[in-house]
Amino acid sequence: MEKVIILGNGIAGLTAAIYTARASLSPLVLSGPEDGGQLTLTNEVENFPGFPEGVMGPQLIVNAKQQAEKFGAKFKTGIATKFEKKEDHYILTVDDKEQLETETLIIATGASARWMDIPSEEKFKGKGVSTCATCDGFFYKGKEIIIVGGGDSAMEEANFLTKFASKVTVVHRRDALRASKIMQDKFFKNPKTDILWNKVVEEVIGTEKGVTGVKLKDTVTGEISDFVCDGVFLALGHVPNTSIFKELLKVNDQGYLITDRFMKTDLEGVFAAGDVQDTRYRQAITAAGSGCQAAMEVEKYLESKETV
Ligand code: NDP
Repeated sequence: MEKVIILGNGIAGLTAAIYTARASLSPLVLSGPEDGGQLTLTNEVENFPGFPEGVMGPQLIVNAKQQAEKFGAKFKTGIATKFEKKEDHYILTVDDKEQLETETLIIATGASARWMDIPSEEKFKGKGVSTCATCDGFFYKGKEIIIVGGGDSAMEEANFLTKFASKVTVVHRRDALRASKIMQDKFFKNPKTDILWNKVVEEVIGTEKGVTGVKLKDTVTGEISDFVCDGVFLALGHVPNTSIFKELLKVNDQGYLITDRFMKTDLEGVFAAGDVQDTRYRQAITAAGSGCQAAMEVEKYLESKETV
């Protein structure tokens, strides 16, 4: 039986791994389908303390993993497909076959990109519709693309994509952006960006070769218009990865795990950290911070069990 299993190897899970490994708990970290979490899909992170020149997101993850391994964290690849309670411990089924038993669990499964949920989007996934600017931007050299969304990700990705694309148009469903002022300023200063207000994508249009444009619907007038572009990037926020926990753990109306300020869920010995439980901040540094908190609470919990 493991003392602690950490589900997810994003920055929250890796920070929890560093702390529990340093506490000699020999944590087992399960890397899920999105290895390394959201930071591996970003570019430069400018606001992580200690890096005045910025740091590349994927590098931050590589460094944190090395740090956790140095202190004795173990890593395993697999998707947790079932979560059960058995007496005073927990059982995780991995990839529908292997069972892992653990005294405590830190859920750091993060959140995955939200899609538009329109049929034509499915048809062009990987053929012009993408949720990862960092991964796919390179394929749009000299092309025209749109980004759907109005948050910090949309602004950041729009600026990043102008390195490749000839023009990047943000399509936003309202007439005001959710993004922070600093990100908006950078976006509006960029000569290769443009914005369409009060619009949603009604349909993605294309051929077997890929996307050729979109049909847009005006959210105020209902008017439909055609827009020519070669790619559609989505920056619609994220959906927390909590499906296997919903039966035993409380989630809010958006599916986020509910924790107290000690990162505890409502099951003894089960903690959550990072974007899977954070509806408010969702920053790399806050994810790392909550991973640290969860790890320290695991240590305290195991100590208290031993002294009973
Ligand atoms: P957000 O949830 O902040 O923004 C999502 C955007 O997508 C919103 O503008 C929302 O519109 C729009 N949207 C959602 N669903 C749909 C839909 N079905 N159709 C059309 N539009 C839709 O997500 P982000 O990924 O941008 O940011 C998440 C967090 O990460 C934030 O806290 C942000 O500050 C942080 N972040 C920080 C960065 C940095 O500081 N460098 C970089 C990137 C992210 P509406 O506004 O109308 O709700």
